[in-house]
Amino acid sequence: MKPTYDPHDIESRWYPVWEESGAFRPEINPDGEPFTIVIPPPNVTGVLHMGHALDMSIQDAVIRRKRMQGFRALWLPGMDHAGIATQNVVERELAKEGMTRHDLGRERFVEQVWQWKATSGGTITKQIRAMGFSCDWSRERFTLDEGLSVAVREVFVTLYEEGLIYRSNRIINWCPRCHTAISDIEVEHQEEQGTLTHIRYPFTDGDGYIEVATTRPETMLGDTAVAVHPDDPRYASAIGRTVRLPLMDRDIPVVADDAVELEFGTGAVKVTPAHDPLDFEIGQRHGLEPIQVIDTEAKITAAGGRFAGMDRFDARAAVVEALGELGVLGEIEEHAHSVGHCSRCKTVVEPMLSLQWFVKVQPLVVPAIAAVRDGDSRFVPQRWENSYFHWMENLRDWTISRQLWWGHRIPAWYCDVCDKVIVSRVDVVECPDCHGAVRGDEDVLDTWFSSALWPFSTLGWPEETEDLATYYPTSVLVTGYDIIYFWVARMMKMGIHFTGQVPFADIAIHGMVRAEDGRKMSKSLANAVDPLELVAEYGADPLRLTLLQAAAQGQDVPFAEEWVDAARRFGNKLWNALRFAVDHVDVGAVPADGGYPDDPAPPEQWILSRLHTVTAEYDALFDEYKFSEASALIYNFAWSEVFDWYLEMAKAPLKAASRAAATKQTLGVVLRDLLKLLHPLIPFVTEELWSELVGEGMLITASWPQPPDRRIPPGIELLQDLLVGIRRFRAEHNLGAKPLDLILDDPDGVAAPWWEEQLAAFGRVEITRGQPGSVAGHARISAGNVHGFVPLAGLIDPEAECPRLRKAMAETEGMLKATQGKLANSNFVDRAPAEVVDKERAKAAEFTATLERLRTQLEQLGC
Ligand SMILES: [Zn+2]
Ligand SMILES: [Zn+2]
Repeated sequence: MKPTYDPHDIESRWYPVWEESGAFRPEINPDGEPFTIVIPPPNVTGVLHMGHALDMSIQDAVIRRKRMQGFRALWLPGMDHAGIATQNVVERELAKEGMTRHDLGRERFVEQVWQWKATSGGTITKQIRAMGFSCDWSRERFTLDEGLSVAVREVFVTLYEEGLIYRSNRIINWCPRCHTAISDIEVEHQEEQGTLTHIRYPFTDGDGYIEVATTRPETMLGDTAVAVHPDDPRYASAIGRTVRLPLMDRDIPVVADDAVELEFGTGAVKVTPAHDPLDFEIGQRHGLEPIQVIDTEAKITAAGGRFAGMDRFDARAAVVEALGELGVLGEIEEHAHSVGHCSRCKTVVEPMLSLQWFVKVQPLVVPAIAAVRDGDSRFVPQRWENSYFHWMENLRDWTISRQLWWGHRIPAWYCDVCDKVIVSRVDVVECPDCHGAVRGDEDVLDTWFSSALWPFSTLGWPEETEDLATYYPTSVLVTGYDIIYFWVARMMKMGIHFTGQVPFADIAIHGMVRAEDGRKMSKSLANAVDPLELVAEYGADPLRLTLLQAAAQGQDVPFAEEWVDAARRFGNKLWNALRFAVDHVDVGAVPADGGYPDDPAPPEQWILSRLHTVTAEYDALFDEYKFSEASALIYNFAWSEVFDWYLEMAKAPLKAASRAAATKQTLGVVLRDLLKLLHPLIPFVTEELWSELVGEGMLITASWPQPPDRRIPPGIELLQDLLVGIRRFRAEHNLGAKPLDLILDDPDGVAAPWWEEQLAAFGRVEITRGQPGSVAGHARISAGNVHGFVPLAGLIDPEAECPRLRKAMAETEGMLKATQGKLANSNFVDRAPAEVVDKERAKAAEFTATLERLRTQLEQLGC
């Protein structure tokens, strides 16, 4: 066994061994109950970031434990074709050669994207391996692969046949940069300072005017009415008359509509049906013609008269100037309002009338809400249910067509002769009605359309495959709260509609990885960290442990690099503990399971009892997705109880010929089970240590520990307190490892004979039972009603020790006074953050305790 822990040496070796052994495949446990996780598919353009590292560390911890528990555990990996993102990457490459996708044409462009995927895509799947994530690569899927494309088409056609997919001219969000429609949730709204421009529209009959206000004056070129509220007394006489639209010299009616807000602006609104969703609805109710005045390049169309060809923002200024010249411009107010931006490229989105495909979501929402209300799917933590309900109840129809080339082509064809629309599972070459020529729809589907089917399409649906029957519904979805709407909600809707079952039993929501100070990690703040750089420096296991330790259920996850270093030190400590065990345990003597001693001696009883309790608590925390608590529990058990206590307590019996065998047996099984419990968190180092300690089979497929309960030997805590007291006494008087005499006064008879061996070996004290003749001249170390007296004569020189203790006392008194002064200051107590005040209080308590101890020592020395 190597003398030191070297993560890199270990981590490069184990992944291929695991994968080639078939351990990642659920078939490794053919008789187990199925347990399934589908990976949230990363984009094919993606590289591993801290969010993935956290998300997948959680999934791997869950799946590894289930695998060890004997479940037929499947973690299904794959990638998303990521429509706009991927198309942008390849378009940028073309741009370097001075080309656009149009120069290539659709077919060659799409071919180029596939080529890009083959050579440069999927970097992330290699990175996933470096992290040790145990996905079943034999079942890897891609949202654009053949099978998933069949599923997408089946879903589209079925929803169309059910009347849940329709094509319509409606106002959509248009990104003039990406050249595509985008859905409502792909629009980011930002509060911006703009202006509200008042414009006067004169009545056609020359008698006065009506004033409207707008944040987008250029759209007035497309106005086809002015609307007022029917109950607004200010405009009662205006309804039914017409106004002359300035600049365009068009007469447009004043209509009454309930949708107009009485309180906003002047109470009269301009109506531009082609460029505003509300105006579109008003237009529909009043039979108003929509006039498109902004085109897909965000330029003014020919319908915009003399402004035709101008960019929308230039036109805004030009229109205002022209209105001023006409003398119809009213006030221009400063006005903060919300502006929609494309989430992909940040360009200001243009609401635009466009012929697109939509999913009618309401009928799909109802069962998806009921499934969570009825507990068929459970959000953990539960509070995310409220966001889910709120979102679901306020959904508008989903725009699913995208004017892109990379994605699932919409399976619709149009007959040029008789205008028939054909939606079909198989490609169509001629019109079934008139045999005329047909044109295929040019658009592709929103990427989220295929990812909405991910939990069942990846298992073979619509075929009734064995995998689908076995692994669906999946057991748990692990994901960040940021995609509950984009993804979780849509998988619920589609999963229930097409399979009649919820896609997952549990939805475990985790937070975002943030910098230590709670700020978002971002390139602009220069506080983003690259998980692969951390793996290169510290190893994957330390990074995984750090993330899981910080992953408090449902909360954002703070991260600091020094924590990874600390996690690596835990790896060192574990390594050293196993070296100790391997040095003492006979090779081949530690079985892969069982082997717990039947009649252990008290120190063994104690550690076995703790192992039993900790395992049960750990299991309960894991089942509730409480990873930070589970990690803290096992970390503290390993460090404080196994390494610091048990390994020390094992040293004496290991030297006693009569007890060495039982001690070795306990040492072996405790460390073996510790490796098992730690394996889901830090798989590489535990597998390596397993090969040294057990050497039989692999840890990845070993069974999950179920240590039997053992009675805790009575008084063990008192013995430990006594040993801690002895250790402290040595430290306080700089006594090092000097052997000490100890008179043990045990009036209640709790100090069992076996204590003596521990006190001698671990505490390096020689015991005499009884009472000292006089308490003076002795240091007293107490634990409960057990008292140890250490004679000080000859051990400590009062001449040197008394001044030292007095000096320490004066210093401590000074610090206590300063702290008490702060705490007496109401200004500080009221204004400082609660944790700062708590820290001061803790300090005061500590100083008081130190003073008490120093006082006792002074007394004992007779200073
Ligand atoms: Zn865009
Ligand atoms: Zn036809």
